[in-house]
Amino acid sequence: MKRISDFSWQEYDALPVADKAECLSRPDGMPFHTIFAQQFGRASLDRLCDAATKIRAIAKSRAGMEFLQGLLFHKRAMIYFTQPSSRTFLSFLSACQILGLRTGEVRDASVSSEFKGESREDSIRTFSSYFDLIVMRTREKGLAERMAWALSRSKRPVPIINAGSGKDQHPTQALLDVYTLQRSFERRGGLRNRTIVYVGDLARGRTVRSLSRLLANYDGIRHVFVAPSPLRIGEDVLADLRAAGQTVEVSEDMAAWLPEADAVYMTRIQDEWDETSGESARIDTSRFKIGLEQMRLMRADAILMHPLPRRDEIAPEVDDDPRAMYWRQVRNGMWIRAALVASTFDCLSRIDHWFRDNL
Ligand code: ASP
Repeated sequence: MKRISDFSWQEYDALPVADKAECLSRPDGMPFHTIFAQQFGRASLDRLCDAATKIRAIAKSRAGMEFLQGLLFHKRAMIYFTQPSSRTFLSFLSACQILGLRTGEVRDASVSSEFKGESREDSIRTFSSYFDLIVMRTREKGLAERMAWALSRSKRPVPIINAGSGKDQHPTQALLDVYTLQRSFERRGGLRNRTIVYVGDLARGRTVRSLSRLLANYDGIRHVFVAPSPLRIGEDVLADLRAAGQTVEVSEDMAAWLPEADAVYMTRIQDEWDETSGESARIDTSRFKIGLEQMRLMRADAILMHPLPRRDEIAPEVDDDPRAMYWRQVRNGMWIRAALVASTFDCLSRIDHWFRDNL
């Protein structure tokens, strides 16, 4: 088993992604640090989805909540979110509260010593002394991974959960998306052999970069990436999916793919990453939006997803359609994040036992 603490940063950084994944995991294959989607296989995904469903059932009763609240009562989590967020922030906060963890937060690095010139790495290392878990969202692509490496080498390794790293990855959003897909299709033959149509800003949206890689764990998925050409999906994602034996299609014609889709995954234009002012506004995105007319093109048993926040990619009139899953995604997110936090602290078998003995 490869251990992250055996490598210098340069050595670690040069490892193939499968070796990095091994370094970030516990011996049982579940993540210790959760940094990127390629860390997950079918076994860990199934384990987390199952735990999420058990936690939400246990949380329905007072006795169940008392059990959950005791699980991690002795642990503290820091939610370090220096990039704007309210839904993911509150989702993690609620997930921690369900498990009894106490939390502290950093939302604005300019009010910490980083303002005095301290490096971000030093600040996080300092904060880690007060906490047992760090949940981290930043604009910088590799910071969560670098901190995972740095904190694994300290005497008291503190796990890191990446809650969004720049334009690169958002593994916990992908977990909640897979959980939503799994629940939607569980009575209809499961997730294999599905056509997933991703639409929008696929060049700069991190959710699709993580979700498509998680879905590569399911047989026979056809991934269809639909975007205006300046916003098309990165070649690195396509290469990973092809290497996993999956079918990929790249298209600019959303309407043509809607009747084929089992799930349509809409995303917003990520103009906060524009390099020149108004760059995104000059791209014609009018054919990449869903209203009632586009819903008529989708199959009756297909689902419509969105990581939120939305702008105008999905018209509000669509919200009442039973195929619209985005509000359910939000709720599922809290439960799967609770499952991930519980798993990070190796509590899943205690949850299994309580579930078996009481429900
Ligand atoms: N909430 C998602 C993210 O943090 C999607 C988005 O912002 O468009 O990446």
